[in-house]
Amino acid sequence: MKPTDEPPPYPMPQPSYPMPQPQIFVVETKPAVGPDPFHIVCPNCRSDVYSRVERDTAATGYICCGLLFIVGCFCCSCIPLFMDSFQRVDHFCPSCGHFFGTYKP
Ligand SMILES: [Zn+2]
Repeated sequence: MKPTDEPPPYPMPQPSYPMPQPQIFVVETKPAVGPDPFHIVCPNCRSDVYSRVERDTAATGYICCGLLFIVGCFCCSCIPLFMDSFQRVDHFCPSCGHFFGTYKP
């Protein structure tokens, strides 16, 4: 005689706790910006462009410059202003000037 898989005579009671609602996160997608121009469809003017970069010295570069000057390294105090690691890179749309993001090393 084979055992049969009969369903139980009464259905199992379903757990009555509420199902968790799927959470919807609104994430503003910012492009991952790097030190070089990148390809993007501008969210502002919908142009298919490469970002225009503007390089500027980050505040930490000026701080290091000042510190080097204070400790007496007068001739090398300006070096941080020319180092890539202290450069801040801003990315803009070349068509409409929309700001995409800032790259900080
Ligand atoms: Zn644009």
